[in-house]
This record gives sequence, C-alpha cells and structure tokens, in this order.
Amino acid sequence: METNLSQIYSCPHCQMETPHYILVRRGERVGITCSRCRTTSLVQASVLEDHQAWWEAELQQILSGLEEHEDEH
Ligand SMILES: [Zn+2]
Repeated sequence: METNLSQIYSCPHCQMETPHYILVRRGERVGITCSRCRTTSLVQASVLEDHQAWWEAELQQILSGLEEHEDEH
C-alpha cells in the first residue's frame, strides 16, 4: 500500500509540513526522519496515514483551484 519513500508530516523542529523518510515500521508505530533537519519522530501509523490523506486532499484542492482560475477569462 505504501509506495512512497517519503511522507508529509508536521516536523516539531521545522514547525511546518516537510517530507519525512520512513525509517522503520513496526506494527502501529512508524519511525520517520525529517528530510530537512533530520529530526526523528515516532508516530502512530494511522496518524501518519490520516495526515498524508489530509495533505493530498489539500494539494488536490490547490491544484483544482489553479485549473479553475485558468478557465476564467
Ligand atoms: Zn524538520
């Protein structure tokens, strides 16, 4: 199911949404590392998936918003 090498997650150090590399996944716990500052976070897999889904929905809204603006003349 997870084909992405990185997951979007809010880094506690950067205090923004950053791509995180997945280090290890064991059951419900996922160890991820911020690709910017290398801060490692341990999060629940469900939280990470929810966050990723939220991010993709947000991105989709931005993209569809851009398309709508392109159609306006
Ligand atoms: Zn960071």
